[in-house]
Amino acid sequence: MQNLKEHITHLVFKQIGAVSDRQGNDTYIVGGFVRDLLLGRNRQLSDVDIVTVGSGIELATRVAAALRPGLKVSVFHNFGTAMFRYDEIDFEFVGARRESYRLESRKPIVEDGTLEDDQQRRDFTINALAICLNSNRFGDLLDPFDGVTDLENRILKTPLAPEITFSDDPLRMMRAIRFATQLDFVIEENTLAAIESQSKRIEIVSKERVSDEINKIMLSSKPSVGFKLLEKTGLLALILPEVQNLKGRETINGIGHKDNFYHTLEVVDRISKNTDNLWLRWSALLHDIAKPVTKRFDQRLGWTFHAHNFVGERMVPKMFERLKLPLNEKCKFVQKMVSLHMRPIVLSEEEVTDSAVRRLLFDAGDDIDDLMTLCEADITSKNPDKVIKYMANFQLVREKLKDIEERDALRNFQPPVTGELIMETFDLKPCREIGIIKSAIKEAILEGEIHNNYEEAYQYMLKKGAELKLVTKEN
Ligand code: ATP
Ligand code: MG
Repeated sequence: MQNLKEHITHLVFKQIGAVSDRQGNDTYIVGGFVRDLLLGRNRQLSDVDIVTVGSGIELATRVAAALRPGLKVSVFHNFGTAMFRYDEIDFEFVGARRESYRLESRKPIVEDGTLEDDQQRRDFTINALAICLNSNRFGDLLDPFDGVTDLENRILKTPLAPEITFSDDPLRMMRAIRFATQLDFVIEENTLAAIESQSKRIEIVSKERVSDEINKIMLSSKPSVGFKLLEKTGLLALILPEVQNLKGRETINGIGHKDNFYHTLEVVDRISKNTDNLWLRWSALLHDIAKPVTKRFDQRLGWTFHAHNFVGERMVPKMFERLKLPLNEKCKFVQKMVSLHMRPIVLSEEEVTDSAVRRLLFDAGDDIDDLMTLCEADITSKNPDKVIKYMANFQLVREKLKDIEERDALRNFQPPVTGELIMETFDLKPCREIGIIKSAIKEAILEGEIHNNYEEAYQYMLKKGAELKLVTKEN
């Protein structure tokens, strides 16, 4: 039997073992900690799951008291679990249990059980490994389902019949695909087939939990792995039908368009190399989301996706609402990225003029760098000459942006001349002319006729006022 005592040196583990010895209960570390330890996955240790053949709440309480008087224990009576935080690690305690499931809910009926019962209820063989903490067996690895072999072969497999495992708790289907993506594992054939046959069951899982798993897939180093598996198993059509609809190519008169699903996945993978920002990665997933609904075949132009950026912008909040993703500034950010995603490309296709760059900076504001990151990821052409040309143009756009940024502060544009000043200068009550002058000043700045400063804007205001036959107040 493998022994891992050299690797579990944290004093909390010793303390848990000592308290368990005194109580006469067997206690183990289970789940992700054991898996990641054996995988040599160097992650910041954030949470450890402890299972005891007895009361998890009682054990947590006693260990906490032994570690430091007054250490706060959070108790969840309805789950029979407890946890405390020590050394910035969450230690979570649960009593070993048996579970039985009903058809309509993923919440099981729970009874006390043995360690083996507890290992059987776990989702994958690699997550069912346990390390004993009692002093006489400290560090012993218990592996009833040969999870170590699956770890070596990088395989995800359920401990029990996969159809039952997934039907009992369909969230496990999402977890399988999430782990396959995060760990770069392959889902074993029968397990994968069972996800396909049980995919409809995902409907009994709360949207929050599903989105949580999508977000974890999205934050992996190569999210496309997960999205391809979601598609293959039929889950994608159920949880993200809009993304599913991107799939496929149509040909008319011998003219085809690209498969926007695979293109999108390439963009998501590409952007993931350059950013860990979850919402920027979501923007990559959704940038072309309205292509299927805006697609037309024009005899002259071929395939068009007219205004897909604006239609897409409107689809985003509907999707976020359904998925129970935040509807605050995160959603607005994604909308903005979707709506602006073609601007830098269009700009770099034509001559990169100062005024076009200024307008882009004005519309994107502080999100300009994220927008450029998205657009660079969007260049997935297989033609190396095209790629070189686009990248060079983007470089030019970036340089111009920097240059203009230094000359005119346009990122968070504040009109250099206020409506009040206009009213004051021409002795006006609120009226249409104020708006006309204000937007004329903004346009002049964006066109580069004047710089973004008070002095030039003031002179321009006087000129516009004269054109409108306004007279300045004598003082
Ligand atoms: P990570 O924390 O890296 O996401 P983990 O494996 O620790 O991975 P947790 O969600 O923290 O995942 O769960 C801890 C353990 O609890 C898992 O390793 C697994 O044994 C078990 N588990 C969690 N959720 C389920 C589930 N839905 N069905 C069966 N077992 C589960
Ligand atoms: Mg965990």
